[in-house]
Amino acid sequence: MNTQWEVVIGLEIHAQLATKSKIFSGAATAYGAEPNTQACVISLGMPGVLPVLNEDAVRKAVVFGMAIEAEIAPYSVFARKNYFYPDLPKGYQISQFELPIVGNGHLDIEVDGETKRIGVTRAHLEEDAGKSLHENFHGSTGIDLNRAGTPLLEIVSEPDMRSAKEAVAYMRKIHDLVRYLKICDGNMQEGSFRCDANVSVRPKGQIEFGTRAEIKNINSFKFVEKAINHEVERQIEVIENGGRVVQETRLYDSDKDETRSMRSKEEANDYRYFPDPDLLPVFVSDELKAELKAALPELPEAKLLRFKTDYKLNDESATILTSSRDMADYFENVVKISGCESAICANWITGELSAALNRADLEISASPINTERFAGLVARIADDTISGKIGKQVFEFLWNGSESADEIIEAQGLRQITDTGAIEEIIDTILATNEKQAEQYRGGNEKMFGFFVGQVMKAMQGKGNPAEINKILKAKLA
Ligand code: ADP
Ligand code: MG
Repeated sequence: MNTQWEVVIGLEIHAQLATKSKIFSGAATAYGAEPNTQACVISLGMPGVLPVLNEDAVRKAVVFGMAIEAEIAPYSVFARKNYFYPDLPKGYQISQFELPIVGNGHLDIEVDGETKRIGVTRAHLEEDAGKSLHENFHGSTGIDLNRAGTPLLEIVSEPDMRSAKEAVAYMRKIHDLVRYLKICDGNMQEGSFRCDANVSVRPKGQIEFGTRAEIKNINSFKFVEKAINHEVERQIEVIENGGRVVQETRLYDSDKDETRSMRSKEEANDYRYFPDPDLLPVFVSDELKAELKAALPELPEAKLLRFKTDYKLNDESATILTSSRDMADYFENVVKISGCESAICANWITGELSAALNRADLEISASPINTERFAGLVARIADDTISGKIGKQVFEFLWNGSESADEIIEAQGLRQITDTGAIEEIIDTILATNEKQAEQYRGGNEKMFGFFVGQVMKAMQGKGNPAEINKILKAKLA
């Protein structure tokens, strides 16, 4: 058979909202505490307790809705989703079902130079469950309920994506956005941002969707791509061998790079949703919307455009520099403090600094070089006090110490030598000791020029002004 298959993907992204306390109680949400020390009676659903909605979670959900140009429901309702699982001992999860707080938004992604709009069906508030721990329990499973009750925003896309690459682009876009909005820390290792991927295939040209499988709990961009591609291959193989894809929930095993069946898929009616009798409906007033709208930060796309036009940056630099709000702020501060051209600031931030941050696995907010010290470096390169090459040495000192660029340049004697007298003296000595090479150059071997530049630079320990050296050498070798 040589049917052409089309892939259809919809993502359900879970973003933990960065509130200090849980969605229905005052218990802390901080990650990494001793197991079960933050598992309060409300998160556990003990008899007689009543949940109280955390207003900050509502505000963060509304902010997200505004950023994707969605409809904000003036009235939304919490519902109980009933199921039992060891990490959900109270037997139900408080979520939103029929009336979610955010509906009908969208987001544009770029793949292979093309822009594509992805629909966001809804984004609803819910509580996270606890966590099963499999390590260090010798064949048993430990349960840590600290996470129970942490606010989640579940962001459900339309089945609009047609490749793993598009799914990754969409997931990255949402990841950038929630961090820009500072509504989620985006930490994927800690599980603050994760997704379920719904995947199906259909013969090209067919209008109806194929039966989908849902791959649960993917917590990295790399895994989402691998898991989807893997699942697509599996489904095509099933169909081409005469079988049928069954609707089910599968788990991606990153060690084996395969998905395996967890359970057959529940339908909504399996959960026996009903409105939670302990919680009032959520009202979002026009005043609250106006307040949040006014405080909305500049969004990634607007910033990218502004960086390209105002700072005249190329696509690549502008994209790197607007990849996070902290990065963008860092760049703008360096430009402001140094008073230098945006191009040289951009070069040193996307080059030397980004490489060092990557090596050290640090975010720019944790950079050992603050904007003031970094601006000091750029300024001295721009005004020719030091060459770019020496700049890299100064950068190392800045990274490993606490002095300013000026202090380092003075202490290490790195100032560029532009004094023509001094350069001439050194050139004369070198020409005198390399007469043969000088003859070769004059005889037409132009490559010899590089040899002389190298010799002079070496004699001057890299501190000679390259333009001056070139000029004087040319004259003397003529
Ligand atoms: P459920 O409530 O069972 O999770 P939904 O209808 O809410 O199901 O859909 C969940 C996700 O699955 C959405 O992101 C949606 O876009 C996606 N989806 C629905 N049908 C398909 C399909 N046939 N193939 C791929 N994705 C799908
Ligand atoms: Mg679902």
